[in-house]
Amino acid sequence: MTELTCCICGDPIGPEPKRIGGRTYCDRHYARVTAPHRGIWQTGVVQIIALILFVVLVEVVVSSVQITLSATGLVIAGLILALIPALIWLAFFYAQDRLEPEPKGYVLGVFLLGGLLASAVGIPVLRDLFHTNDWLGTSTLTGVLGSILVVGVTQEFLKYAAVRYSIFQSSEFDERVDGIVYGTAAGLGYATLLNIQFIIDSNGADLRAAVIRIVITTLAQASFSGISGYFLARAKFEDEPIWWLPSGVALAAILNGLFTFVRGEISTTRLSLTGGGFNPWPGLILAAVVAVVVLGLLSYLIRRANRITLSGVDAGRA
Ligand SMILES: [Zn+2]
Repeated sequence: MTELTCCICGDPIGPEPKRIGGRTYCDRHYARVTAPHRGIWQTGVVQIIALILFVVLVEVVVSSVQITLSATGLVIAGLILALIPALIWLAFFYAQDRLEPEPKGYVLGVFLLGGLLASAVGIPVLRDLFHTNDWLGTSTLTGVLGSILVVGVTQEFLKYAAVRYSIFQSSEFDERVDGIVYGTAAGLGYATLLNIQFIIDSNGADLRAAVIRIVITTLAQASFSGISGYFLARAKFEDEPIWWLPSGVALAAILNGLFTFVRGEISTTRLSLTGGGFNPWPGLILAAVVAVVVLGLLSYLIRRANRITLSGVDAGRA
């Protein structure tokens, strides 16, 4: 008879081990995988509200302070704004972490890897290889298909890869909720680099429009890679079919592409009273709604999976 081992740590386990799906677990890792999620729903909602308050604060400050910045000054101010969403997230993460220690270095590492993949691969591929700026806006069909198949697939695959080929392999990825934690960390890193690139490219953007765009990008990128992170966690802790992970990336890419397209549509006001023809606020509302819905759905699914496992139904499937 072959000796049974824990699928996370590889330690040998007794003849009647804990099981989830067809996988066997040592007692310690069984308890970790099914650990009650660490208030991820509440913290997530508070962070989304904090990002909206950040936008409102910048709007109020910029409209009330009478300082005219040079183009360089605007770029520097914009770069500071681009870093703040990640700092807000880190502050929450570290504050929460005091209650339940998680290796902080890994989460920060996945965040940096997401940013690195954005600047080294994602941004140059979309800009210089696909030249998306030149053709995405040419027609509705091109816009939708291009946003999904080119922008969505590229961005979501890279954020997925940042988790899949790093922490996912390690025994530190040992709770269902880790999928969301690491998925959103990769998304935040990716978003931060997109935002930095946006500020540099715009060469002194209006700060009030810039901060809205920064927060939209942050919410969207973090939400969509949270979805592929959930799929990763399922693949790690349960036996899933071979198409499971590609489906997770595809779902994230479709939502990413649809979001990119719809945001562009609702931001462009064809009958604008101000004559600017661009209103970023509907995009922000859409991004906040998407983030709350994705977060709510994922935390519900995790809680349900843990409940099912602990009720013992899973063990019977083995
Ligand atoms: Zn174990």
